[in-house]
Amino acid sequence: MTGTQLAITRPATVTDAFLRQLVARVPGSSGAAWKLTEVYTGDVLVELPQSTPADIEQAFVTAREAQRTWAATPVRQRLAVFDRAHTIFVDNARTTADLIQVESGKNRRMAIEETCDPPMVMSHYLKRAAGLLAPVRRGGPVPFLSNSTEIRQPKGVVGVIAPWNFPFATGISDAIPALMAGNGVVLKPDNKTALSPLYGIRMLEEAGLPKGLFQVVCGEGPDVGPTLIDNADYVMFTGSTATGRVIGERAGRNLIGCCLELGGKNPMVVLDDADIAEAVEGAVFGAFGNTGQICMHVERIYLPESRYDEFADAFVARAKALDVRAAYDFGPEMGSLVSVDHMHRVRSHVDDAVAKGATVLCGGRPRPDLGPAFFEPTILEGVTKDMLCGVTETFGPVVALHRYRTVDEAVALANDTDYGLNASVWGGNIAAARAVAARVEAGNVNINDILATAFASKGTPSGGVKNSGVGVRHGDQGLLKYTDVQNMAVLKKQVMGPKPGQDYGRHVERVLSGLKMMRRLRIR
Ligand code: NAD
Repeated sequence: MTGTQLAITRPATVTDAFLRQLVARVPGSSGAAWKLTEVYTGDVLVELPQSTPADIEQAFVTAREAQRTWAATPVRQRLAVFDRAHTIFVDNARTTADLIQVESGKNRRMAIEETCDPPMVMSHYLKRAAGLLAPVRRGGPVPFLSNSTEIRQPKGVVGVIAPWNFPFATGISDAIPALMAGNGVVLKPDNKTALSPLYGIRMLEEAGLPKGLFQVVCGEGPDVGPTLIDNADYVMFTGSTATGRVIGERAGRNLIGCCLELGGKNPMVVLDDADIAEAVEGAVFGAFGNTGQICMHVERIYLPESRYDEFADAFVARAKALDVRAAYDFGPEMGSLVSVDHMHRVRSHVDDAVAKGATVLCGGRPRPDLGPAFFEPTILEGVTKDMLCGVTETFGPVVALHRYRTVDEAVALANDTDYGLNASVWGGNIAAARAVAARVEAGNVNINDILATAFASKGTPSGGVKNSGVGVRHGDQGLLKYTDVQNMAVLKKQVMGPKPGQDYGRHVERVLSGLKMMRRLRIR
């Protein structure tokens, strides 16, 4: 299918010259290139260079060189870059959204929302970073005569590996605290969605980020991953659980730290006193927002018997009426999946469920008339754990409705998964909803919202439990993870051991009574 057939005009900002400029910073010494396409039409946008192991090694050498000067730059001066970048990012949000849309096929509403994430992360850490990175003086073992200072040193060069579903947010937002902490970054975006992060780096450099500090390498994951991890001092990975295991194993072998933000099979639990109209609107976003390609989105909805029909009828009606289209304006409520391959994967989950006895309440089919990778908003009933979509992440606009009889049963069903990324609990009585939320095994739980409240709370660490990840982004840990702690300890006089010639038994007595005294006086 071509652009002409769809009668869709590419955004005016996305010119060939602009795209060529963006990809020019990607090293590709072998001359190999990936054809990066416009999702709505399948037309080639630009040839993306593919980086060889030697290119990746060189990217680390360059970043490391720039990082030495950057680490020695006072924190306030480093932060000033992000203060300026915040304005540049917000002022250029529309151009960023154009790039996100052409490369990912998501609707414009989600694309513009995505552009807001890096400025929100910058804004949060502009307030917190200086305090978090300042040395902290603590007491040593011997009062007055000793002290210890906790000093935060940057790790060095951080490898960031990003997925295609939020390429700008995951590519740039996770790099921001790493850079603020004094690190260099080498980013590997997904081939399909390298444009918006490349534009983000350009904006950071416009704001004063030293050239060379933030490198980009491109290629298929298994080709680029090993060299990237072997050269990195820390790895920040966002992507599937399967790939996360590969990354974690290699990082472990290299004895470097890593943060793994992985997949989910996120439940939504509607309690019997919930506002059903609001819960339905929430479910529309939770299941179909970003065409169902949000790691924290909802794939399982648990409803009390008493409210099942009311919810299901309203939800199905709303899903059937959704404006699903390819357009570079704010009209469509849902856009395309990211690729034809991914559409086939989503379709295979639905076909498998139907073959094993699930009922399609609405949707269930690809929509080639709308674009090559479109798939209908799909609501299923009767999904069981012997179906693909009953246990594994579908990552598309497909959601299953389930009934429950008691709240205990709802909690047990919500927790009946290997994943633990996000959950959503809806109820009129907030205290009761909180009590249910506390029993759900998930790194994030939103009450009367799907995901945005938790994800946009940048002061609180956010990550997955169980097979959904290791480590967190956001909050103090989201920056401190990119640092090593140096414990600089000072002893002003040698008083801790026995004096020369002193009986060791007497020394031990003195030490033990000293411990008791310090405990009594609460000085240690
Ligand atoms: P993916 O794991 O296939 O790929 C993610 C990135 O890893 C891509 O850049 C890819 O090229 C790279 N990669 C693949 N194999 C690699 C390897 N062996 N070594 C190094 N890099 C490798 O995931 P995807 O399909 O691109 O993204 C969708 C997944 O990401 C979903 O499971 C989704 O839930 C998850 N996700 C999680 C979060 C979160 O914060 N928890 C956010 C967004 C997406």
